[in-house]
Amino acid sequence: MSQPQNLSDLEAKLNDLSAGAGLALIAELFPEKVVFSTSLGQEDQVITQLIASQNLPIQIFSLDTGRLFPETLELLSRTESKYKTRIKVYYPDTASVEKLVGDIGINGFYESVENRKSCCFVRKVEPLKRALAGNAVWVTGLRAEQSANRSEMRRIEWDEANQIIKYNPLLDWTFEQMITYIEEHRIPYNPLHDQGFISIGCAPCTRAILPGEDARAGRWWWEDSKKECGLHSK
Ligand code: SF4
Repeated sequence: MSQPQNLSDLEAKLNDLSAGAGLALIAELFPEKVVFSTSLGQEDQVITQLIASQNLPIQIFSLDTGRLFPETLELLSRTESKYKTRIKVYYPDTASVEKLVGDIGINGFYESVENRKSCCFVRKVEPLKRALAGNAVWVTGLRAEQSANRSEMRRIEWDEANQIIKYNPLLDWTFEQMITYIEEHRIPYNPLHDQGFISIGCAPCTRAILPGEDARAGRWWWEDSKKECGLHSK
């Protein structure tokens, strides 16, 4: 897909709508071409609720890296049951994982940023590209306050790396707003959040954080570099 010319018009419309109404508009404008990637985090659970409660024709998918917490997979199953829907799960390419582990070792991602990025590429980035291929809009749960690196995000933007429109319906939601919404709608969430885990990814690369620490301090904590896995370019 090439970059559409009228994204700023669409952005202006979306800025006047709630997240739920925005999702409905996007689903209507791009029929059968909208996908939502969930990592089962709190933001993503809110979006799943917004999609499922309106029965929107948006494909929900998740990436099973093979290194997720059991709690995350259990939550995926609970979410499917609650919303009576199937979340499409993408897996890494078997031969690529075997080569990666043969080259760097089963936990070789701790040894260098390069190894870690190779692991994230094989287990996340490549499956994501497969999941996005052929679609027009990628819905994500990014919030602007989550990270300094993401503070320049737009509600809707062109993702050059994946050649797709990226829509961030929760862009301006605060953490407190999200928690209130989860409580009010009894949305299932990962029990690890109650143990100090904020941003939950793969088990060997996620730890709980202390009060006052940055939300992403629990991800790849042994690295000084920018803490991104390549899924989002900002
Ligand atoms: Fe590999 Fe860790 Fe990246 Fe998961 S988060 S894909 S285990 S390096």
